[in-house]
Amino acid sequence: MAAKKMTQDKRTEINIALIYDNTVYQSGLTPDWGFSAHIRVGEQNILFDTGSDGHILLENMRMMNIDPMNIDTVFISHNHFDHIGGLAAFLRVNYDVDVIIPSSLRGVKRAKRVIEVTTPLTLLDGVFSTGELLGIEQSLMIKTSAGIVLVVGCSHPGLKNIIHVAKQQGHIHAIIGGLHDFDDFDILCDIDYICPTHCSSYISEIAKRYPEKYIQGGAGKRIKLPYFKEEK
Ligand SMILES: [Zn+2]
Ligand SMILES: [Zn+2]
Repeated sequence: MAAKKMTQDKRTEINIALIYDNTVYQSGLTPDWGFSAHIRVGEQNILFDTGSDGHILLENMRMMNIDPMNIDTVFISHNHFDHIGGLAAFLRVNYDVDVIIPSSLRGVKRAKRVIEVTTPLTLLDGVFSTGELLGIEQSLMIKTSAGIVLVVGCSHPGLKNIIHVAKQQGHIHAIIGGLHDFDDFDILCDIDYICPTHCSSYISEIAKRYPEKYIQGGAGKRIKLPYFKEEK
């Protein structure tokens, strides 16, 4: 595999594709309880979480034309089956990757490099981990020209805490992922776009409260960021 540069043009769009989700956006894909997303930042391809089941993960990737061999980095948010279930199957296909794990996850060996995270960490130019918050979960932050894009697994440390950490890097442009039972909707008012999916209990409430910010999730959804809904 050709070596890839880790540099990132801040103006470059990032592309996020939801591979694994409780619901489907693109027909033909398999919905299942769990979460995984492919994130393209410059030349880098990141796999965020791996869903519950390796077969569904790889099959959805195939249907979406996302080649597992192109993934450089696997970022695992937390040690729950619906986020790590597909990891072993993925690493059987491509183990030439860096795997970024919260220190509470044990036993990941078959990879080029395993990086354990406790405190906030810069992974690539403009790409950061919040650190393992409350000893359970890390979230991914990506800098864009419109602000931080925050990708979350289940938000077990509380979205309020995660947002607090992310805001130290600047304005939050978008939040994507599982928000669990988060219902303090006022906190979202400064954020430009919200894609609450996976385990989020209050998707319809968020969509109703912030129709101009809401982005629908589901496996097969592709989101280009920065996101400008008004653009033709
Ligand atoms: Zn969880
Ligand atoms: Zn989950």
